[in-house]
Amino acid sequence: MYSKYSQLITSKTLICARKSLLCKTVPEPSPFQCKRSEKKWQCLKVQTSGFHTTQKLHFHTPVILCLGSILAGHFIRKRWLRMSPIEQEIVIRWYKQRRHIFHGCIKILSAILIIYLATCIKRDPILKVPRFVLFNEAQRIQNAKFLFKVVVQNESNVVPHDNHMYRKVAKIIKKLTNANKEIFKDIDWDVTIIYRIFNIASIPNVLILPDRHIIILADIFNLIKSDDQLAFILAHEMSHEMLYHPSQTISLAVLSNDVILISTFLIWTFYPARIAAMLCSFMYIVQAILFAWFKRGCEREADKVGLRLAAKSCIDLREILTFWEIMKMYDELTGASMFRLPFLNEHPSLEERKNITIQLMPKMNQLRDQVGCPELPLKDPRDYLPQYKRELEDELRRNPRFLGMRW
Ligand SMILES: [Zn+2]
Repeated sequence: MYSKYSQLITSKTLICARKSLLCKTVPEPSPFQCKRSEKKWQCLKVQTSGFHTTQKLHFHTPVILCLGSILAGHFIRKRWLRMSPIEQEIVIRWYKQRRHIFHGCIKILSAILIIYLATCIKRDPILKVPRFVLFNEAQRIQNAKFLFKVVVQNESNVVPHDNHMYRKVAKIIKKLTNANKEIFKDIDWDVTIIYRIFNIASIPNVLILPDRHIIILADIFNLIKSDDQLAFILAHEMSHEMLYHPSQTISLAVLSNDVILISTFLIWTFYPARIAAMLCSFMYIVQAILFAWFKRGCEREADKVGLRLAAKSCIDLREILTFWEIMKMYDELTGASMFRLPFLNEHPSLEERKNITIQLMPKMNQLRDQVGCPELPLKDPRDYLPQYKRELEDELRRNPRFLGMRW
């Protein structure tokens, strides 16, 4: 299915973010318009994709596998219980005679698995922290293409690439990559701006796929108030990729799903249906809590690294605090935070993220000075917060669907 998907990318457009910061949109013809002499980090690709309506997405595969392990476990248990005591005795004797073979095989397979998993540990280039990544480069790209299709759904959901929003993003990515050449050397980024996530919900959000493809929901441009805020958001997403968070998330999801499937099968084999259902429910809840805890850790890391990348690009760091305040207003006005359970939330609270920024602010301002950034403007951007709140309220009154979920 992945290889089929790769054939769906039928048109690509490339923007070369040149040194002048002027971005030139090139209509269609070649996917690589950047001259060879230009370094890769100077190139920002804006992708649009052709979509085949016959493409099938196997969203339901995990559900089918889960049901399959429940049914298989349940069937074996029923079969065992239907056997007479003599038949059960024969099976037990058969197993006991071969138990050394079974145990040996399990030990060998476990050792192979542990060695294999150990080879999947790689250090990220920024923090040098060991990360668990199951996939090689080609598989990462395949995963990303699949996720792209899931998130974007169809071409009508993609904002046309001649839209001014692309130019704004290209300019800021260029600024970030120039300021952090030691990290972004030989790396190029794809950007796609879409109207709705999964072509269902319109929310102000940005996400990154494992092939360095940034997907921006157009509504984020209604929420942010300056290029500096957008620079931090993009730096945060680029940090996710440089820290291997998207690949690590998929790798851990695959591994934990496999563990869950085996555990589900064993639970339904050894326990009666009611107890098995309770145990499985408990296991799924624990998995969701652990996964959310892991994701919150990734968000904190990306905030810290993103802050550093953005500081080196000379943004006014007070804009980040302004952004957190705007997000809090958005949450309050839309009631978005009402339904969030802290232990299942994949992001730390906005208050915590704001506090992380405040803690790192003196160090980051020092870094700003070290790289020769200009003095901060006298006017603190947070002074505009009452005005931003009024604007948000007015917009929501005028258009209740603005910044809301459109299902
Ligand atoms: Zn993030």
